[in-house]
Amino acid sequence: MKSFLIVFLILLTISIFVFFSSSSKPFCKDCNVILISVDTLGSNHMNLYGYNRATTPFLNEISNQSFIFKHSYSTSSYTLPSHISIFTSLYPSTHLVGKDNFDFTLSSNAVTFPQILKQNGYQTAAVVTLPYLSSYYGYNRGFDVYNEDALSNISKRNSESVNQFAFKWIDQNKDKRFFLFLHYSEPHSRWLLPADYYYLYKPNNTNAESLGISTVLLNKLNISINDLTNWNLSSDDLNELNLSQTQLQDAIAIYDGSVNFIDFVLRQDYEFLQRKHLLDKTVIIITGDHGEAFGEHYRVGHGLDLYNEEIRVPLIVLIPNSRGQVINQIASGVDIAPTILQLLNIQIPSQFQGQPLFSQQRDFVISELNSKTSVIQNSKKIIKDSTTSSTELYYLNLDPFELKNISDSSNFEKLLVVIDSFLSNSSKSRLIYGGFVNQSKFNNSVLPRLRELGYI
Ligand SMILES: [Zn+2]
Repeated sequence: MKSFLIVFLILLTISIFVFFSSSSKPFCKDCNVILISVDTLGSNHMNLYGYNRATTPFLNEISNQSFIFKHSYSTSSYTLPSHISIFTSLYPSTHLVGKDNFDFTLSSNAVTFPQILKQNGYQTAAVVTLPYLSSYYGYNRGFDVYNEDALSNISKRNSESVNQFAFKWIDQNKDKRFFLFLHYSEPHSRWLLPADYYYLYKPNNTNAESLGISTVLLNKLNISINDLTNWNLSSDDLNELNLSQTQLQDAIAIYDGSVNFIDFVLRQDYEFLQRKHLLDKTVIIITGDHGEAFGEHYRVGHGLDLYNEEIRVPLIVLIPNSRGQVINQIASGVDIAPTILQLLNIQIPSQFQGQPLFSQQRDFVISELNSKTSVIQNSKKIIKDSTTSSTELYYLNLDPFELKNISDSSNFEKLLVVIDSFLSNSSKSRLIYGGFVNQSKFNNSVLPRLRELGYI
């Protein structure tokens, strides 16, 4: 009798486990949502994703309560098209904002997920730190407050200012349902960091200073934005400098310091929510808009190509009362909006091109940059350039750093079909959802900001 009871209990336990693991999707109706985008945060420099430096101690600490998407890709390798994809769940060749031109604004036919949250009774706010997040592009739709002060005031372009705004706003809205979008940008080149993070991985001090990117120096000299014309150094400049190996290692050391700094900022966010008793009713999503190249394909920066160092980004989801797990299925920036809506049990609009990650398995993932399109499926990758008609083919499981371009395309037929059908669908959907340029508004609101920051 006793052994029967034990067998029965074991069977019951197994059946409960099978039930939950097969049918229960994470779910958080009426929860708050905080979406955090860390500019230029590539997963290849995160310890949580296997990088050898201990850049993410906090994210490691909370890994057992996080859904960690191990293979997540941005839809592009630079800020504007990638973020618009996150907001609209449309690919760059459909929304066209930043696809080939950085002066396009979003079509009024395209719906952003913050608009949908607003319609569903959410209080909504955002705080952003770089010009490609300007409200000109259409990001501000659906927000009660869209804080872009940092775009005209560089002293506010840091995580401390972002959190000053965020924590105050949460305090004022914590008794209602809310959505908050936070955009941090310390990992973006110029690496404006507190000194202890700047020097954390011991860049060769002299060379680091000679790169001209020291915030320590900037603070010491109290340099204003007007002085930056002689000082600023973008990733493009790093290319032109023809960096030595030592300088490149310094740049990587400082970048890694910035990743560690962001990890510290995320800890502050988490602890704030804990103190306010909000963790058990708030979904937190952490992602990046693209990574950063450090010479892997002989270039430094981003928005240069579609190799994995530029498009592999973190995607970490914390859901109240869920244990979390490592998820190996591929994911895309266009999936973030439908995933959020499904977690909240809000209907997903048919125009969304992404899919809710907790209920559907993706077959392939697509990224785009100007005339280039990449597709990854089953560890195979294609990068096709429509202007030159050139095609690069890689076996990612054998060659994860994309160094050996395969000349024989016979095993890539399926991907070639995927890419052709994707491009043909895009050309149709852009007729409805494609953006347009509002030249005078762009010239007045965004152009001066891009010039000030040395983007153009
Ligand atoms: Zn960016």
